[in-house]
Amino acid sequence: MENNLFKDIKTRLIDAEIRPTYQRIKILEYLDEHRTHPTADEIYSSLAPSIPTLSKTTVYNTLATFKESGLVNEIRINGIETRFDIILKPHGHFTCVECGELFDFDYNIDSFATKDLNDYKILNKSFIVEGICPKCLKTKQKQ
Ligand SMILES: [Zn+2]
Ligand SMILES: [Zn+2]
Repeated sequence: MENNLFKDIKTRLIDAEIRPTYQRIKILEYLDEHRTHPTADEIYSSLAPSIPTLSKTTVYNTLATFKESGLVNEIRINGIETRFDIILKPHGHFTCVECGELFDFDYNIDSFATKDLNDYKILNKSFIVEGICPKCLKTKQKQ
């Protein structure tokens, strides 16, 4: 089972014409297993204990390569925090102002009128909704 996943990740890298080094495989695998839209720092801190040779620079460079090759999407929240998303299908993000988690929801920007933006060059089609997630709402109610 684990072997299959590993192979699949490796194939994905090869298909994207990225040399499947051990570190790149581990980073893409992490993104595939943790669909929480992690930041580069989170990925680094999670993988570093098991990959002593991993550097922060490698993680940043690898994510940049993945992004260029269309393996991941970059989500920028308020222009400051950059997170990475392995789900490439267009979807919206709900960000919880309490816990900071990012949740996916079905949403397709192409399905509604963007003709008002005809004269604009679109760089990023992310759609972010801010609010409080059900878990945090429950905690708040208990207080
Ligand atoms: Zn929350
Ligand atoms: Zn997402």
